[in-house]
Amino acid sequence: MTRKKKILLIISTVLLVVTAALSVALVIHLTKQGTDERPPVGITPVESRDLVVYFLDAGQADCTLLMCPEGCVLVDTGLYEDRFRTLAYLNSLGVKTIDWLVVTHAHSDHYGGADSVMEAYRVDNFLLGGGISTAYGYEKMLETAERKKINTVEPFAGYRFTVGEMICEVLGPLRDYGDENMNSTVLKITYGQNVILLMADTGFEAEAELVVRYGEKIRADILKLGHHGSAYSTSSYFLKAVHPRYAVASCGKNNDYGHPAPSTRSRLLELTVPLIITHENSPAVIFECTGEEVIRR
Ligand SMILES: [Zn+2]
Repeated sequence: MTRKKKILLIISTVLLVVTAALSVALVIHLTKQGTDERPPVGITPVESRDLVVYFLDAGQADCTLLMCPEGCVLVDTGLYEDRFRTLAYLNSLGVKTIDWLVVTHAHSDHYGGADSVMEAYRVDNFLLGGGISTAYGYEKMLETAERKKINTVEPFAGYRFTVGEMICEVLGPLRDYGDENMNSTVLKITYGQNVILLMADTGFEAEAELVVRYGEKIRADILKLGHHGSAYSTSSYFLKAVHPRYAVASCGKNNDYGHPAPSTRSRLLELTVPLIITHENSPAVIFECTGEEVIRR
């Protein structure tokens, strides 16, 4: 082989290696596009004969899973961008069928992953509250529910369903507040003597009316704060009536809204209610409810 041929061979080999490396990098880049930037995270399920509540870290969004031996209820589904993360959570927790999927209202931080959840799992019932949206993702979710013939229910105050020993009751909205957040579905879950109150994105006005309507019935062991712990939710009046042992706020790290708000934090502090924030306890804030006791896991 001449010196010239040798040089040509080396150059062509180098070019071939560089082209191959660039192609691999391009494929990896394209595969990553449109998916969750953070790696999917698994959760070790709590072995229990009773109810386990998982407040999943859905970033600046909501996603709560209530699991008992007979089945499960999923309340809100996180953002569309985080759908693979949500599915990874559910998968790692051994979810096979979702007895009830609840979308509390028509905002994407609550319904965003619903379509993917319906595609990935058998969903028996779909409780769809809090107005409607013309957003593409929302309409796609409705289409999927229809195509899969999922029993779809529009909630109203007083509507209730059960999964095993778990009793789920819709407490609100009590009327049309002319605002999607305020109109979101408020759920009370009772398991034996334990009560969990999920406030979705409601605020002061709706809270006050719930206290007037339900009185003692509003008391709960675990309160998921309204509207990610915003300044306009969780009034002292409401907190005194609910008298929770634990408060949970579903918030993203360094979120643009400054949730949970300092004023909400101080109202909780005043009544010595510990505040537990999802992103600080990623991948999930977990409670086991035995029907008598509520145990933080
Ligand atoms: Zn929200």
